[in-house]
Amino acid sequence: MRATLMTAMIRTGAKQCCPYAACSSSRSVAYYSKSAIDTNSNYDLVVIGGGSGGLACSKEAADQGARVAVLDWVAPTPHGQSWGLGGTCVNVGCIPKKLMHQAALVGNHLADAAAYGWQLPKDHHVPHDWNTLKNAVQDTIKASNWVYRVQLNSKKVDYFNALGSFLDSNTIKVTDKKSEKTITAKYVVLSTGLRPTYPNIPGAELGLTSDDLFSLKKSPGRTLVVGGSYVGLECAGFLKGLGLPVDLMIRSIPLRGFDQQCANLITDHMSGEGMNILWRCSPLEVVEAGNDQKKVTWLSDDGKKESQVYDTVLWAIGRQPRLQPLNLQAANVQLNQKNGKVIVDDEERSSNPSVFAIGDIAQGRPELTPVAISTGQLLARRLFAKSSRLMNYDMIPTTVFTPLEYGCVGLSEEAALKKFGEDECEVYHAFYGPYEYTIPHRSSEQCYTKIIALRDDPKTVIGIHFVGPNAGEVTQGFAAAMTCNITIDQLQSTVAIHPTSAEEIIKLRITKRSGLDPRAVGCCG
Ligand code: FAD
Ligand code: NDP
Repeated sequence: MRATLMTAMIRTGAKQCCPYAACSSSRSVAYYSKSAIDTNSNYDLVVIGGGSGGLACSKEAADQGARVAVLDWVAPTPHGQSWGLGGTCVNVGCIPKKLMHQAALVGNHLADAAAYGWQLPKDHHVPHDWNTLKNAVQDTIKASNWVYRVQLNSKKVDYFNALGSFLDSNTIKVTDKKSEKTITAKYVVLSTGLRPTYPNIPGAELGLTSDDLFSLKKSPGRTLVVGGSYVGLECAGFLKGLGLPVDLMIRSIPLRGFDQQCANLITDHMSGEGMNILWRCSPLEVVEAGNDQKKVTWLSDDGKKESQVYDTVLWAIGRQPRLQPLNLQAANVQLNQKNGKVIVDDEERSSNPSVFAIGDIAQGRPELTPVAISTGQLLARRLFAKSSRLMNYDMIPTTVFTPLEYGCVGLSEEAALKKFGEDECEVYHAFYGPYEYTIPHRSSEQCYTKIIALRDDPKTVIGIHFVGPNAGEVTQGFAAAMTCNITIDQLQSTVAIHPTSAEEIIKLRITKRSGLDPRAVGCCG
């Protein structure tokens, strides 16, 4: 199902013109037929990294008849945490995060239940047990690790739970716990992903990262989350939702690169739900405070030093490659000097023609699972099935799974105005009230949706933003429409599904230019 949806995101061979992005689909691309396969190599393809991108690429290559090996090796965190096959998404990313987000949402539903007539215990206090949730999450992960191994086995992909490093362009050293050997391949795909960054401050090692959080043996308790982007906001959101006291430290703006009006609605909502946000603060040091607690000192906005004691400090300040073990010099693979990512061209090829890079490790690519998967599948088809189709990086939808979710596809308002100018863009917007919020009197103050369209015919939609419940589910279908270059007239003439929150996008008529009040009115008229 997921593969089908993602296939819809991929540009077809036909020439397609997006008004706001350089088209690359019409460029011709070299492909490699099976006759080009080097029969002297052990493998046609060796994939280093068994995460979202690497698994998708290796399975697709095997489906196309290639002899494939995958190497996956997880270096333990500084706190000793490690995990199985599948990479970040399944073990320490999207999946455990979504399950813990869901646990927090269930808590909200419990709080709403009495208003809907459910006769809960009189004091309404329903305690949450971290270990029950953590164990359920870890069981789900372990089942997935197993399924990946079975899939590789059934496709006859050789899996090595081993560290890969280059000896030369086509020779890989395979090092596992017990032994070392070499294998050769016509092509090598790097899909080694990223790992969380620790700040360069005294005592940083006393903090944890998302690599440790989802398997913690006891509740994180009072937590400081440092970082104002996806990981920081999502983790702070579900920890608060589980009933824990959480402070969130944001050194500048929330969700850099996102539509800032929507990003600020998300943090307004978090503050409204009781989250203490430490704006424009930067951590200075962490020291032991006894009883397994940590004292964190930070520099606040007004230049003062402040301190607080926490049970857990969670660094969510970005992610970086760990390329040193790969010995990339041996294959002459060039890296971006700033962030250490692998420089690739439109075909995902590195500076070495037989070495490719996909997913998070590739320079300039969105760090998202469906991107890594689609890129890996398309690369395998180009290498082994005479395909010439490239990945379309222009229209990547995403959702931030904060307590109030935020989904978007296309340009932010700022980016659209910068690219096309204010006169060329029409911004439609409205606040709305989800029907399910009415009976429990849940505040809908931050529920909001926005479309940005070009004013010139055919009035192509260039950005859709949705802040509200189930934003991921809502945004996916609109992303398909935008991939087909939907216009504002087509969107507005689509028949709504009532009563839903998604219909609010279809119903948008008020433009910012008109100055009319975008606040919610009425229900069914
Ligand atoms: P990875 O999945 O990271 O896989 C790389 C693998 O290679 C790892 O197993 C690594 O240990 C291994 N490896 C590294 N070096 C070597 C070597 N030398 N030899 C052998 N193996 C090696 N994305 C979304 O789309 N939606 C979400 O909701 C979402 N939530 C996220 C939540 C969190 C907390 C985080 C951290 C990320 C989230 N992401 C999400 C991002 C997503 O997880 C990544 O974009 C995706 O996993 C990248 O896949 P990849 O194949 O590039 O790398
Ligand atoms: P990001 O790189 O997106 O953001 C890092 C955040 O940390 C920024 O707010 C940054 O602030 C802040 N920061 C950086 N350095 C410091 C420092 N030294 N002290 C204090 N704050 C600091 O990283 P994330 O880890 O949040 O996310 C990584 C990627 O993972 C995302 O880009 C996304 O693609 C993917 N992801 C996707 C999810 C989804 O699809 N729902 C969920 C989670 C992750 P500033 O802006 O000032 O630089």
